[in-house]
Amino acid sequence: MKKNFFSLLVVASSLLSLNLFGEQTLSLIKPDAVKKQHIGAIIKRFEEANISINALKMTKLSPEKASQFYAEHKGKPFFNDLIAFMTSGPIVAIVLEGEDVVAKNRQMMGATDPTKAHPRTLRADFASSTTYNAVHGSDSVENAKKEIAFFFQPSEIYSSSP
Ligand code: UDP
Ligand code: MG
Repeated sequence: MKKNFFSLLVVASSLLSLNLFGEQTLSLIKPDAVKKQHIGAIIKRFEEANISINALKMTKLSPEKASQFYAEHKGKPFFNDLIAFMTSGPIVAIVLEGEDVVAKNRQMMGATDPTKAHPRTLRADFASSTTYNAVHGSDSVENAKKEIAFFFQPSEIYSSSP
């Protein structure tokens, strides 16, 4: 019995490391895009790109939570404006799943500064400045795991993989 359980653990962890359950990333629709009623248009882009929505919630960040989420930027000149912006209204947090989805989502988002974002990227189409830039996306698989856990309990995530 104990041996079976152990074998099951080994199989499950190797499946996970093979990424058979699909790569995941965190997307945030920021307060500017929510206010401008772009939630549907942004989610449509993900679905059209064959990216699955595994979890989704609307929430409003407190200044403490926003500072924690953007801790890597503490001390930078734009930090206070970024926190004021990110707490100015509700955001939509989404767990995306798909092959290579971390990089794919970053490509779909476009550059941080929308004037430098390629045409038809989310930021080219929905952002209005480097701060008010419509969407967030995790920048690595490792950060994606941390950022997903920041917003969602495992039980709130519905994997679309077998
Ligand atoms: N940001 C800003 N001014 C800057 C750089 C960044 O206001 O000069 C904001 C912007 O909203 C950006 C966020 O801070 O999305 C996080 O910055 P990062 O460099 O991580 O860009 P991202 O990963 O979002 O493209
Ligand atoms: Mg970033």
